[in-house]
Amino acid sequence: MSNRHSRRLLAEGLTVAAANYQVAFVIPHCAECAKPCCRLDPLVLELDWKQLKALWQIEESRSVFDRRLSSGKGPEEIRAGDGLYYAHRKACPAYDAAHRVCRIYERELKPAGCTDFPVYQDRGSVVADLRCEAVDLKVLATWIARAVGQEFRIVQSADAEFPFLVTLSVRRVASTATFSNQPRMPGSA
Ligand code: SF4
Ligand code: SF4
Repeated sequence: MSNRHSRRLLAEGLTVAAANYQVAFVIPHCAECAKPCCRLDPLVLELDWKQLKALWQIEESRSVFDRRLSSGKGPEEIRAGDGLYYAHRKACPAYDAAHRVCRIYERELKPAGCTDFPVYQDRGSVVADLRCEAVDLKVLATWIARAVGQEFRIVQSADAEFPFLVTLSVRRVASTATFSNQPRMPGSA
């Protein structure tokens, strides 16, 4: 098996492991979270025009909206940059604060960042965002280690600029190791 194929399998396995960790440990905590991420404080939500238009129920064209935004008359929580939009410091309109759920959770419209937060695979590593109180690094590292198997070890490092972002890198212990099987999830045979 080529290194490229092996790396792709590893990335796929880590994507599944990260998603399963969210299902097992993060989502069950959301209903009792002290600082729900969907309030977008301190988190920033990245959106494309289609998502912004639908979630903020914008009727006008994009060019008209952009002009309004740049003149300071747009929604104060929205900033534009590099063809995208960023919402911050006001709850996402899709957030149902009474029931503490996302109204578009299962819909395609949901921004990718919402799916990834707080644990996701990135370039063959798993990144955890500690701004989510449900993330337990020790439990996550154990979860990932079990998913990839004994041929790999987990190395932890925090981002220098944003220390709440912690990367769990997967390193091969033996030079012959490959990630050829589906990840073994905790609790599975
Ligand atoms: S910060 Fe974490 S626990 Fe809180 S609502 Fe968001 S995902 Fe759920
Ligand atoms: S789209 Fe849903 S998950 Fe994303 S910030 Fe809004 S309410 Fe939260």
